[in-house]
Amino acid sequence: MVVPCWNPDGLQAGTRYNANGVDLNRNFPTGWNPHSDEPPGPGPLSEPESQALHSLILEIQPRKIVSLHWALAELDADGLQSRDFLAAIWNSLSDEERVPYRCRLSRHPDDSECPGSLGKWCGYGLHSVWGWGPAIVTLELPAEPLVPRAVELPSDHLQTVQARWRRDSVGYLQEAEPAVRKMLLAACRFPTETEDSNHP
Ligand SMILES: [Zn+2]
Repeated sequence: MVVPCWNPDGLQAGTRYNANGVDLNRNFPTGWNPHSDEPPGPGPLSEPESQALHSLILEIQPRKIVSLHWALAELDADGLQSRDFLAAIWNSLSDEERVPYRCRLSRHPDDSECPGSLGKWCGYGLHSVWGWGPAIVTLELPAEPLVPRAVELPSDHLQTVQARWRRDSVGYLQEAEPAVRKMLLAACRFPTETEDSNHP
């Protein structure tokens, strides 16, 4: 299943927040924090978009999720159950295709930032509360697809990608798409038959 856009109002307005000024990726229940780095909303799942995605995931109980983001230039996996999924996606890339990205697995809900994110909830919340949890990888596109990733991203990386997109969206897609296509194909094929032989 593909959810092409989780934040349609924000897309239209050109902001990461929804029409209520809430960052949907801080609005999930796991680790929800009123003092979050981004506006998390008045409470967990206060927003209709988060409620809809929350219900959808509980209903279809996916085994794996790739969440597409801009522009931290990394593959960010939450929870140990996401380790092999992350490896399968990363291993689909050549050394050259990896240069704009880094690869990161968080093993504990307090490991990384983004309290109340979709990744936190899928990676940890679903295990503790519902007893199952999907493998989840957040695929953060790079600001410049052919440029090696700086260890510390410049603080204006988001402005860089927005400017690049306005200037040359076709060129951006041409540069970013081959690697993204490979990663998404690897995600679709995971687990391969050998990897899955223990789980008929
Ligand atoms: Zn992100």
